[in-house]
Amino acid sequence: MSAASLEQRILGALRDIPDFPEPGVTFKDITPLIADAELFAEVVRAHAQPWQGSVDAVAGLEARGFIFGAAIAVHLGLGFIPVRKGGKLPGPTVGVDYALEYGTARIEIHEDAVAQGSRVLVVDDVLATGGTAAAACTLLESCGAVVPGVEILVEIEALRGRDALAGRAVRSLVTV
Ligand code: AMP
Repeated sequence: MSAASLEQRILGALRDIPDFPEPGVTFKDITPLIADAELFAEVVRAHAQPWQGSVDAVAGLEARGFIFGAAIAVHLGLGFIPVRKGGKLPGPTVGVDYALEYGTARIEIHEDAVAQGSRVLVVDDVLATGGTAAAACTLLESCGAVVPGVEILVEIEALRGRDALAGRAVRSLVTV
């Protein structure tokens, strides 16, 4: 056990990449964090622990939500639902379009991915405007899931993603 708090260690393991993928965006790079075996495992445990025994599946948002979401699912002994960008899944899908700052995006799941009434935890690495996570919750619920919470590694507070997820239990391990 290290002396620094988990929050401090997460913050120390995130790398800011300026102007990626476009000018003006500071990209929160999680690759140093997941390269640290001990810290990665602690992060997965911290995300999973509140949900032990109270969810039926974990959904992760493409792409980095797959890394954390799949590990959380294994930790909880649950299956994993990939929420993918439009056109990526091989089978019949259901999807939702949602607004970006400029234009729209689409996310999809396989139409048989959700068991009716199942409790599905939503996981992603970064909460920015909240549009993606909100769309994922809406999509999963439209397929019969109950979404009891959203687990986020890094919340970018200034972008007010929580507002897009009003009424939902959103937990972030660190806020920047
Ligand atoms: P948003 O829908 O605006 O909340 O954006 C969230 C999605 O975009 C997540 O899947 C994140 O992985 C990604 N994302 C948005 N902003 C950043 C950022 N500054 N650094 C890394 N990923 C980001």
